[in-house]
Amino acid sequence: MVDTLTPAQRSERMSRIRSTNTKPEVTLRKALHRLGFRFRLHGNRLPGKPDIVLPRYRTAIFVHGCFWHRHEGCKVATTPKTNTSFWVDKFNRNVARDAAAAVELQASGWKVLVAWECDLRTPEKAAAKAAKLSGEIRAGFAEEQ
Ligand SMILES: [Zn+2]
Repeated sequence: MVDTLTPAQRSERMSRIRSTNTKPEVTLRKALHRLGFRFRLHGNRLPGKPDIVLPRYRTAIFVHGCFWHRHEGCKVATTPKTNTSFWVDKFNRNVARDAAAAVELQASGWKVLVAWECDLRTPEKAAAKAAKLSGEIRAGFAEEQ
């Protein structure tokens, strides 16, 4: 990926993308809803503010942008060639923050799941991802179904 944006431009663009109700998040929410899941949006009181919260399953789902949250092995998770140390620093902080939130949630009994943006590009991909997440969400709750 050619890096044609200044850090400020990129930061501005990404902060818009990062705002609530981003498209991948909406796509996943619809797919999960179709599978019968009901949830609270934006667990603002929970560590890391998970994007989708399923209180019944005590599960928190984060929808992560591959670039910002460093999806390992993903082609979107490039490192800009200019101001590299600035970006590496920023990425490291994001990853550390994500990890800390997951640890904190798990410590209070939450199951933490992550959906990467690249898995939610189309409704079809989102449906496949939701089906996979469904198994993980319900794991340990099978006896109630
Ligand atoms: Zn990805």
